[in-house]
Amino acid sequence: MPDYYIDYPQEEDGAMHSYRCKHCKLNTLVINGLLENHEPHCSYRIEREVELHKAMLIGQQAKIVLGGVDEAD
Ligand SMILES: [Zn+2]
Repeated sequence: MPDYYIDYPQEEDGAMHSYRCKHCKLNTLVINGLLENHEPHCSYRIEREVELHKAMLIGQQAKIVLGGVDEAD
């Protein structure tokens, strides 16, 4: 199940009811709520990816604390 990110700053795209990401200027229809559809240099995308990376690290630490690390023997 993909995660949808629609809280990025938007601005009008010049057309009626057409909006784009304020950072990478891609149309919201192109982005379609997916982080990976923003330009790689988009600062919104970069911020979210840093947050996701941190959350992942915290998740790994929690796993270690709980002793739930899978070990193959
Ligand atoms: Zn963007």
